[in-house]
Amino acid sequence: MASTPLTVIKGDGIGPDIVDAALEVLGSLDLDFDYDYAEVGQAALDAGETDPLPQAAIDSIERTGLVLKGPVTTPVGQGYRSVNVSMRQRFDLYANVRPTMSLPGTKSRYDNVDIITVRENKGGMYSGEGQVVVDDGNRAEALSVITREQSEQIVRFAFELARSHGRKKVTLAHKANIMKSTSGLFLKVGREVAEEYDDLEYDEVIVDACAMKLVMAPEDFDVIVTTNLFGDIISDLCAGLIGGLGLAPGANIGDQYAMFEAVHGSAPDIAGQGIANPTSVILASALMLDHLGRNDQAERIRTAVRGAIAEGDRTTPDLGGNGGTRDFAAAVVERLK
Ligand code: NAD
Repeated sequence: MASTPLTVIKGDGIGPDIVDAALEVLGSLDLDFDYDYAEVGQAALDAGETDPLPQAAIDSIERTGLVLKGPVTTPVGQGYRSVNVSMRQRFDLYANVRPTMSLPGTKSRYDNVDIITVRENKGGMYSGEGQVVVDDGNRAEALSVITREQSEQIVRFAFELARSHGRKKVTLAHKANIMKSTSGLFLKVGREVAEEYDDLEYDEVIVDACAMKLVMAPEDFDVIVTTNLFGDIISDLCAGLIGGLGLAPGANIGDQYAMFEAVHGSAPDIAGQGIANPTSVILASALMLDHLGRNDQAERIRTAVRGAIAEGDRTTPDLGGNGGTRDFAAAVVERLK
């Protein structure tokens, strides 16, 4: 059988620890990945590169088309542009899919959450266009760009995902009452696309009310589709509903490339302590296997993770346990044997 080339980017902060944990889990299954390691962001600059998205990483991704990635630190308020945003735009990863599902054994406020957030991944407030600070630093501007093409693509993606995953409802979150041009266009196009899917329920909600409703009654939500910034925030909120960012995987999907990662960032507050929860990136690797059509192996990983968490077997401190990143990975691997 031919091997499957996979670009692995370990990332910054807790990234290398949690990606190693995911590779251990993948390594315990009968899989045929051919790993190609690449560096981006601070790790690449530290290694002597001048660009945070070096040509070597671009070449690797162009060759493999598939990426498993740890979180990458982005300088706040200044410095180079987010490598994550650059990669999503460069490789046309237009859909950011973030499933959050309650896992028995976690001390979360809810046990009935099963929501997939589908976030437009390239435009909106993250388009990167028109970012300027003028008037001696007293006025700042940025362009939010929404196009019909991007809106149609992401809403259609959400409906197709809902259909193929046997989901019942798609909720479009917007702010068209205030942002009449940008969010207004997204809503208009969303309504048009929804008409084509009369087998699925469709509703729409203003994003601030969406945040409140998610906290009060998360069981009312199924698939949420929204623009870039709202999707970023809403998906972190959803992660909070199930017990935190350590449990939330994400997929960045395009027609030619796909990149799988945790929803969370590089967690500088716990980096280097060996206590980061690797669940998000392990579950992201399961999403990657789903994407490759290896659903049985993906489900085996999810079952092993659920089992280890439910039994509190070497879970990490964010879940109330005493285990380290490696301990928890070992607990998952033992369940795969
Ligand atoms: P963060 O997601 O790194 O951390 C937020 C909180 O969640 C912290 O208290 C952290 O300890 C906790 N947390 C996150 N992951 C955890 C895990 N696996 N196990 C246990 N606890 C975990 O958010 P931040 O601190 O706002 O961002 C840090 C850096 O990460 C920033 O530079 C940001 O730009 C970057 N970031 C990168 C990505 C990405 O690469 N996809 C995503 C988000 C943020």
